[in-house]
Amino acid sequence: MKILNTEQEDYHVHSLNFSDGFATVDEIVVFAGKLGMKKIVITDHSQVAVDARFIARNTPREILLRWKNVHNNVEVAFGIEGDLLNEKGDICDELHGMKSDFLILSYHPITYKGDKNKVTEGFINAIKRHHKIIKFIGHIYAYSEGIDVEKVVEVGNQYKLAFELNGAYLMPFKSHQADMNALKIMLSKADQIYVNSDAHTLSGLKDLRKKGFDLLKENGFFE
Ligand SMILES: [Zn+2]
Ligand SMILES: [Zn+2]
Repeated sequence: MKILNTEQEDYHVHSLNFSDGFATVDEIVVFAGKLGMKKIVITDHSQVAVDARFIARNTPREILLRWKNVHNNVEVAFGIEGDLLNEKGDICDELHGMKSDFLILSYHPITYKGDKNKVTEGFINAIKRHHKIIKFIGHIYAYSEGIDVEKVVEVGNQYKLAFELNGAYLMPFKSHQADMNALKIMLSKADQIYVNSDAHTLSGLKDLRKKGFDLLKENGFFE
């Protein structure tokens, strides 16, 4: 298994400007600098997720064409955490009518409109149809009841897609359901993984990615 990022890089962070994060983009970037990070990708939720969670539209996404990091040397990019919509593998990959060249594909029960017994099929179809634009599959071991994680990982590997070890889903947050057995399957089968925080707060940016790396160290995947 290849780990595609270092502890100084995080590819899954949410902001107040564009979805349900607690801190603004600028606050996140300043704090990332203090933590000594090299790169962050702010991947706010897609339009269907923002609508389903009644997240108020904050800053229009067009502002990103004008935003620059004036704080430090942290490399900052903007992506989208897209949503798997149904068993056909349809996805939502836009926010405020704009797409991104950095797309995570995640399954969230709140935005999935298809047959919940066919999420495996949905992932497989989505991977086949959209693998060229997907950077990695988010937290496959979350809400995984009824998902054949092994099968999805197998297809992901065929298409050279990475999977995510997501620190937020290692925590006993009330809103987060994760299946540690499914996580073990993912770690034993996936060819490539990213270790991200899925931070919605500054403390999350500091602590959650570390949870993921610690878990890998404890299990001998990483020194
Ligand atoms: Zn998610
Ligand atoms: Zn997320």
